[in-house]
Amino acid sequence: MGKFLLWAVIIIAVLLVSKTLAHQKARARFQAENPRPKSSKDAETMVRCEHCQIYLPRSEAYLSQGKTWCSAEHARLGLKK
Ligand SMILES: [Zn+2]
Repeated sequence: MGKFLLWAVIIIAVLLVSKTLAHQKARARFQAENPRPKSSKDAETMVRCEHCQIYLPRSEAYLSQGKTWCSAEHARLGLKK
């Protein structure tokens, strides 16, 4: 009986691991096929350039000194005077 339980635990563990690996594989393949998945969450996250006040997606924004910028140039120029 003890041996049966041990095997049951091993089989369940193997099944869980293979399921997790298959899931990760499927996810990796999905991301490879869709390099930039456009989820609604990403589309809604808009940030503003502190220099020229233009709005742009957070993924395309530059982050510097805790502020967001539309380009490296504007991050360097800093706040508009
Ligand atoms: Zn800007």
